[in-house]
Order: sequence, then C-alpha cells, then structure tokens
Amino acid sequence: MKTKQTPLTINIEQLEQPTATFANGISTQLKNLILKGEHRSLSPAEKEDIIIEAAFYYGKFLTALGVDWENDPNSSNTPKRVAKAYVNDLWKGRYDLLAEITSFPSNYDGMIVETNIPVFSQCAHHHQQILGVAHIGYIPGPGQHVLGLSKLNRIVEHYSRRGQIQEDLTMQIHQTLNTVIPDNVGIAVVVDSKHSCVSCRGVKHQGASMQTAKLTGAFLQEPECREEFYMYVRNAVTKS
Ligand SMILES: [Zn+2]
Repeated sequence: MKTKQTPLTINIEQLEQPTATFANGISTQLKNLILKGEHRSLSPAEKEDIIIEAAFYYGKFLTALGVDWENDPNSSNTPKRVAKAYVNDLWKGRYDLLAEITSFPSNYDGMIVETNIPVFSQCAHHHQQILGVAHIGYIPGPGQHVLGLSKLNRIVEHYSRRGQIQEDLTMQIHQTLNTVIPDNVGIAVVVDSKHSCVSCRGVKHQGASMQTAKLTGAFLQEPECREEFYMYVRNAVTKS
C-alpha cells in the first residue's frame, strides 16, 4: 500500500506502448529497446549514430531537390545541423523516455491549473511547425499527492517534441496525467496551436488556430468546475 507521507515515484513504463509493427510516435530504435525489455532512453552514442545516418540521407534529400549544398558555404554542414536539431531538440521525445514523475503528499483538494505552457511540435503529415500553448488543470483526491509544477511542463514537452497530430498530443498529455495522478477528481487538458501546414502551404490561411480539449471527471460533469477552469484559461490568454 502506498504511503501518503512521502514523495511517490510513479511507474510510467506503460505510457509508451509500441508494438512490433508500429513505433507509435517514438523512434524505431527506442521501440526496439523497449521490446527487448530495456526501458531506457537512447544513449549519446546511439543518438550520434542516428545523426550520422540521418545527415547522410538529408544530404541526398537536398541534392534531389536541386540544392548545391556541398559547394555552398552556408549549407555545406546543413545536413549534420538539421539531423542534430531533429534528434537533440525538434524530435527529442522520440529518443528519450519520459523522465520519472514524482508527486508529493498534500492535503490540497482544490483545482490546480497551469496555463500557457509552450507547445512546439510538428504535424505528422507535413513536418511543419505546430506552435501554441497548453492549459492543464487537475484536482487531486483529498489527501492525495500533487505533482511538482514543472512536471506538467515536462509532460507537454515530452509529447510535443515529435511529429504527430494535435488530437493525439492532447490525449497523450491527459493519459499521462491520469496515470501519474491515479486518484484524481478530474483532469482538463486544452491545446491551442497554430499550424504552419495551414498558414504556409495548401490553403495558406494566416491566423487560424486549432483548439483541442480533453476533460474528465469533475471538469466534464460539473459545469461550475469547468467554468472555473476556463475562467483561468481566459484570464491567462487575455494577459498574455
Ligand atoms: Zn500538416
């Protein structure tokens, strides 16, 4: 039985669920480790191997597009730069496991809301930018644990840093919170983002934004609770 007096580290291994035929958002290299029973992030050497191979093929990609990158002093190292940016930053969430989440005992039983959490992601369809914010609310059960605040940011960051669709990102953030706060009274996740694949290509509409929301528990069932959450969101959006 878990103690309510000490910090609690939640087992989050079940959150990334690749299958033999589908890496499901993480990299195939990380999928293969997990399927072998090695539940760890890729090592720096394993990431370097990916960067070297990805740089080779990105050079081929640029050549196919007619870019004389090898003879352009501004672009001669671009394949390596791009590969490093993808592995270390843009798609970091494909190569690292979500860090352990520790929660702390508390008697607080009100609503906890963090707004304007930055979202930087890419759409799975065109690999164009998704830029926006996430707003998260949760209500711990009475006498239960609360998360360190930055963990909400880290959860958003982990699932944002890969190619995907915003609908899945919203669900992944919610599912993770529901796992690490198992006795919660309710969880609310809103993502509000602008998509470059709408503004810069195809229909080319500037200014359109996409909102997705996943509400459960009191946020879904109690209008006053939902209204309180959206009041915090409105205030935060107005101030920003
Ligand atoms: Zn797209």
